[in-house]
Amino acid sequence: MQLLLTGMVLSATVQLVCAAPAPYSFLSDFFDSFKREEYTEVATPSTDQESTSTAFAPQSSPFFPDFELAMSSSNEDAVRYDTQGKVLSRKSLNLKKYPEPWTRPDIYSPQVQAVINIIDWNLVPKSQVRTFNSEGSINFDSYDSSKDKDCWWSASNCVSPRVDYLPDDIYTCPQKGEWGITFDDGPFNVRESSELYANEENPFAEPELYNFLEKHDIKSNLFYIGSNVAYYPAAAKRAFDDGHYICSHTWSHPPMTTLTNAEVVAELYWTLRAIKEATGITPRCWRPPQGDVDDRVRAIAWQMGMRTILWDKDTEDWALQAPGGGSLSASQVDKKFSRWLREGKSQTHGTVVLQHELNSATIRMAEKWLPKIKNSFKVVPASACNDVTRPYWEEDVVYPAIH
Ligand SMILES: [Zn+2]
Repeated sequence: MQLLLTGMVLSATVQLVCAAPAPYSFLSDFFDSFKREEYTEVATPSTDQESTSTAFAPQSSPFFPDFELAMSSSNEDAVRYDTQGKVLSRKSLNLKKYPEPWTRPDIYSPQVQAVINIIDWNLVPKSQVRTFNSEGSINFDSYDSSKDKDCWWSASNCVSPRVDYLPDDIYTCPQKGEWGITFDDGPFNVRESSELYANEENPFAEPELYNFLEKHDIKSNLFYIGSNVAYYPAAAKRAFDDGHYICSHTWSHPPMTTLTNAEVVAELYWTLRAIKEATGITPRCWRPPQGDVDDRVRAIAWQMGMRTILWDKDTEDWALQAPGGGSLSASQVDKKFSRWLREGKSQTHGTVVLQHELNSATIRMAEKWLPKIKNSFKVVPASACNDVTRPYWEEDVVYPAIH
């Protein structure tokens, strides 16, 4: 059994905070129907001998009531989100319209209830909601990992759902020489000057990484925490404008298999909404914090319009010694990058690599290694090496095919 504890420190903090009811001021038109369409982009080979195209379950584009986008031309604040320079606007979204950042959103809000009412619950497996043991980590005692009936990644690294109406997770780049790049936990927010570690961390907050990626002509998948987007929408808009592939990484970063169905919906809904308001687009991809996903959670995310993306190489940069990090030394992460660079030439397929825009240490690591990696690999977003050219529900946004 392999358990990766990506972002455990972050999520452990969240566990301790009780969700507070949030004010909601927009209710109109919320119960309009979702747009539904058959998902035909993925074909799953069933055996070596035969390859069949699977009819996956209908997938929905999440519906949002009319609201003014933070970046729309009619919004007087719009210009503040268009900065391409070193300083981005610090103006948050209207937080009164969102759940309290970094807390578990209210499942009884009309917005969340509207999504719950639209999901076809017959298509969602009735797996157990997972529990924590006394040390605060996920409890695997009552789960048979060898049978793995729920394709629970945390227990087995399973990426091929048992239910046939879900596509496999994206977790690697199929073609040799491709390095699928991903950054989780952003946008990396600027701290108030009075906050701890502000002087050390703020030079590495966004747009530092986005400037670096732009300079090196690298596009990435970015898995955004809704709470971070709500606080720092200008960074999300900058990343979208630069051509990065924006995906969801939940509102408050919990281990998702420990949430009830309604709580899963709430975490996913508010993140999509914050991304939509900040950037104008609605992602069709998400990544579960710590990779903690099973078929129940996958099925809910799928019906809310998102396919699951994991990874096959973990830099463990999230555990580096820095605020919000852990106790790993930089040399231990350096060793991983060195080994992957060495082994790259003998691999039969590409890879998807997990990195973070979490603190100064993770950004330093990215800036140190990406130029070297780019010399040896074709560095591309994880979605792009899997031939995704329409990563959003908005059909007018099309990204170039790389194959
Ligand atoms: Zn994370």
